[in-house]
Amino acid sequence: MTGPAGELKIIAVGDELLEGRTADTNSGRIQRALGGHALRCALIQVVPDDEEAIGAALDRTVPGDLVFMSGGLGSTPDDLTRDVLARWADVPLDQDPGVRAQLEERWRQRGVATSPGIERQCEVPRGLAAVPNPVGSAPGLVGRLSGRMFVLLPGVPPELVGLLPAVIARLEQEGALPAPRATLVRRTAQYPELKLVQRCAAAREAYPRLGWSWWLSDWGVDVRVSAGAGDEGQLEAAGSMLDAEFGRLVYARDGADLPTTVVTLATARGRSLAVAESCTGGLVGGALTGVAGASACFRGGIIAYADQAKRDQLGVPAAVLQADGAVSEASVRAMAAGCRERLGADLAVSVSGISGPGGGSEAKPVGTTWIGLASPSGTFAQCLRFPGDRARNRLLAVAAALDALRRALEDGAADSPWRHGDTWWRS
Ligand code: ATP
Repeated sequence: MTGPAGELKIIAVGDELLEGRTADTNSGRIQRALGGHALRCALIQVVPDDEEAIGAALDRTVPGDLVFMSGGLGSTPDDLTRDVLARWADVPLDQDPGVRAQLEERWRQRGVATSPGIERQCEVPRGLAAVPNPVGSAPGLVGRLSGRMFVLLPGVPPELVGLLPAVIARLEQEGALPAPRATLVRRTAQYPELKLVQRCAAAREAYPRLGWSWWLSDWGVDVRVSAGAGDEGQLEAAGSMLDAEFGRLVYARDGADLPTTVVTLATARGRSLAVAESCTGGLVGGALTGVAGASACFRGGIIAYADQAKRDQLGVPAAVLQADGAVSEASVRAMAAGCRERLGADLAVSVSGISGPGGGSEAKPVGTTWIGLASPSGTFAQCLRFPGDRARNRLLAVAAALDALRRALEDGAADSPWRHGDTWWRS
């Protein structure tokens, strides 16, 4: 059993991870999934598909550790994880009839012949038990070997993620995880991390025994507060202090991401949405349609990149484009209004900016981004100045557009979503 001395150690196996072809995202997924248990990760090792390297990584674990291994569970000769672990722990590989039955049933349902690699995929180092894979074919393998608790997961990210809840439930049953800590989260958008941390100071001082952490997400910064045994009662009061301090910067208290929050709010309030995008080229619509159930509120989007498209598709007057330019207040107001009307939506958001690296000027430097919003009460616009490169500026623009919708939905769209002045990137 992992005791106080036990640490979480992750071994990510795969040549592609060391060749710069694939970034190791699996380790972060594992850590995040275990975050509620306040399990600190002591070591992440990224190793090639090589027996010696995998063995050396296993040598860096000690009895009591919880060891997650990702990758190398397929049926090809370079998938070595099971074999190396069995040799390292000096246990045989057994054929698991339960895994075989599940794989055969899976292939039968898909109408394909049993794969010749099935023998290898059914091999399980003695001492580990299979956890069925809800997404793919390779099961997860969990159990104790050489005094460590091992979890073997397939490398394909959706399969790994799909297996994590069942694997964590199994670890909890086995008593291999510390008790989960009570946690609260406040997700914020449009505000920089350092400022946010500073604004947590009073609450941290009031509740010093709580654990405080700040996480960057695609949409902004999350504040997480966790309580050890006996301190759970302090969480609610700390959450109220944070809410009073942050006000409308908080978009979610339930862990939902920003696009999900927008879709949930719009659906609950019976409002339909549309997007008119220039510099974000469809990313705002992509984020909204990434949410299951978006069809309940999302009408669609118009990507109008060239001036001509802004004129023809959204009805932006040629005179506006000529006099003010495409990245301007008048342009995003017209884009939002045109989009709202053409797609018959209650609310439309528009984005037009200079993402860089070229295209900037003294009056409109790289990062200048106008966001427009059209609602039954009128049109509103706000200029933001983002500090990043092209990729980051576009991502910040997506977050800004979604956050404008979120604020408008929370307010009943009666006024400018930016009227409280708490958006950091305002120019
Ligand atoms: P398969 O049955 O596909 O062989 P596997 O469990 O053997 O599955 P790998 O072959 O190691 O897994 O990896 C499959 C793919 O998953 C890789 O091509 C890579 O794109 C992705 N992958 C593997 N490890 C990671 C990781 N640590 N982070 C992100 N992606 C990964």
